Amino acid sequence: MRAARASIDRSALLHNFQRVREAAPHSRVLAVVKANAYGHGAVTVAQTLGDAHGFGVACVDEGLALRAAGIDKTIVSLQGFKSAPELVKAAANKIDVTVYDAYQVELLAATSLAEPVHVWLKVDTGMARLGFAPTEIAAVHRRVAALPQTATAPVLMTHLACADERRSDYSRQQLNTFERATAALSGARSVANSAGILAWPGSHGDWVRPGIMLYGASPFVDDTAEHAGLKPVMTLTAPLITRRWMRAGEHVGYGNSWTAPEAMPIGVAAIGYADGYPRHASTGTPVLLNGQRTQLVGRVCMDMITIDLRGCDAAVGDDVTLWGPDLPVDAVARSATTVGYDLLCAAGNRVRTELIN
Ligand SMILES: *Cc1c(COP(=O)(O)O)cnc(C)c1O
Repeated sequence: MRAARASIDRSALLHNFQRVREAAPHSRVLAVVKANAYGHGAVTVAQTLGDAHGFGVACVDEGLALRAAGIDKTIVSLQGFKSAPELVKAAANKIDVTVYDAYQVELLAATSLAEPVHVWLKVDTGMARLGFAPTEIAAVHRRVAALPQTATAPVLMTHLACADERRSDYSRQQLNTFERATAALSGARSVANSAGILAWPGSHGDWVRPGIMLYGASPFVDDTAEHAGLKPVMTLTAPLITRRWMRAGEHVGYGNSWTAPEAMPIGVAAIGYADGYPRHASTGTPVLLNGQRTQLVGRVCMDMITIDLRGCDAAVGDDVTLWGPDLPVDAVARSATTVGYDLLCAAGNRVRTELIN
């Protein structure tokens, strides 16, 4: 019997990368591989995406892991650096840094570096997370560009707050704010995440920053990945380790949270919230067994879930698919009141991954 595992389909990853190229043909692609490539394995993804122009990571250490694996393209630490030692490490390993706060400018000015770093200067155009105010960006740009620690003109970047809602006018407002604030400044531009790439062509600029769409899940709250022409990269499977008959009225699991409505078979699959399967997935969450769709019943445990086997042709040892090409992770996420991003990151970092294709 094979243990729970996440299978990573590299041909699907390449297909999704092509979708980025088609949607934003004039932009360079910074493939976002933070959080171990959303659970898919950052080194694997970076090695597979040979045509990407660079890679986005959350912090300098994630970038170092790529450098250690021999990745020699542009790498951008999207949270920049938080200390002088981290900055020194970034510069020594040619990792670009995002700068979004005055303390970082002071660190940059005060730290001697073996080589200048490439800076991505972030403007807050309405996300209210990271970035300088539109009114201060020109002065910051002037200061940072003049520092000997800085290589060439900084890239100017911002992040969209509502790009996943196509009907919202907020993205257009943010784009206008960004254009106005940076009109007089030199340097490449970078705005679009996956939702921006697919829904806001005006946001593409010089560098697009796709994350979730590379992995074949939807960046939109109201649209599927399939409709966007994306293919799921991860298939999460776990073996059925036992099956039993329930009598009508018998309860299942912690808190007796589910009651069998009739005499019926149930099974137990060896995966739970410790493996990244969402604890909040409710009864009715879809799973696949030998190609048949059935459902989770009762509460998700730490390392097991219970499955309704009515109408299923299933034996102990069979693989249960928790998500994959025939069961979008977004559908499972909805049943757990979360998003595909959350599930992919959590699952891929606990269970063993294997490569297919
Ligand atoms: C994570 C991240 C992205 C990628 O976002 P997706 O919605 O996954 O495409 C892009 N830019 C920045 C700054 C990020 O932090």
